[in-house]
Amino acid sequence: YILVILLAQILFSIFCWWQLNRPRPLYLELERAIRKKEFVPYAQPIVDAITKETIGIEILMRWKHPFQGIVRPDLFIPQAEDSGLIIPMTDLLLKETAKQLREYKHDLPTPFHVGVNISPQHCKSSILLDECKVFIDEVSNHNVILVLELTERGALEVSEFTRGLFYDLKMLGCKIAIDDFGTGHSSLVNLQEINLDYLKIDRVFVKNIGVDCTSEHLIESTVELAKRLSLRIIAEGVETEAQAEYLKKQGIENLQGFLFAKPIPLGEFLQNYNQNISV
Ligand code: C2E
Ligand code: CA
Ligand code: CA
Ligand code: CA
Repeated sequence: YILVILLAQILFSIFCWWQLNRPRPLYLELERAIRKKEFVPYAQPIVDAITKETIGIEILMRWKHPFQGIVRPDLFIPQAEDSGLIIPMTDLLLKETAKQLREYKHDLPTPFHVGVNISPQHCKSSILLDECKVFIDEVSNHNVILVLELTERGALEVSEFTRGLFYDLKMLGCKIAIDDFGTGHSSLVNLQEINLDYLKIDRVFVKNIGVDCTSEHLIESTVELAKRLSLRIIAEGVETEAQAEYLKKQGIENLQGFLFAKPIPLGEFLQNYNQNISV
């Protein structure tokens, strides 16, 4: 009798182990991870090009996988976008970010820029507006500015609906940035239509500063364009002092990159920041 129970237990353990470890389609894994709230916010500072002071952060998603550890977004964002799961994942990220920011709301510089990556399909529904409203209410600090980073890659279509959505988002106090600028195909018309606030110059151009003059020309003409449209520029992927110096000389306002800091868990960033300003 005992032997039968023992055997049943062993079989059950094997079954559980197989359930946990069998290869499953990424889609099902992502759904499970959403339920378990495994997507967490990391933060990378954005600094003022002149003073080098932190003016805000970009929130970058990480997957805290129970067996694989921290998974980088390039491994799962494409599939999350194709399946539409990116929408609940982003919602989760916004909620967690708001919760953590709220705790430190009296210790942040004013204004404090919080960039969040938004996929093109998210801009096709009005859920985004509701989620941003919830975020702003939750943080309950009027100095926190939510900046929606829309990638230029997916060629954002500007329709009657998106025009209305962006208008409402702006009325709510959100700002709009075009991410990876220079790598996609957004036409000037497109850019003017959605009343942008920021351009983020992609790191492929920053990397080639001092190496290839086509990248420098692109940066210089982006600066011209930004001036004409009254946009601010954030340069991404700044890794060297020479790049930072060049970008500052061009009149670019904000910089982001490993030269200043790598992305770290948001909670850790907020704690460090708080310690640094109170000493
Ligand atoms: P991105 O929006 O262009 O984010 C910047 C990426 O560059 C981040 O990679 C960041 O860690 C990296 N980076 C920053 N500074 C440097 C530097 O100095 N040198 C180098 N080599 N890299 C630097 P990460 O975190 O792996 O994210 C990759 C991409 O995944 C993001 O590119 C974004 O397109 C996407 N992503 C991340 N989080 C989210 C999210 O919450 N939602 C969506 N839809 N996409 C996200
Ligand atoms: Ca981004
Ligand atoms: Ca980018
Ligand atoms: Ca990029």
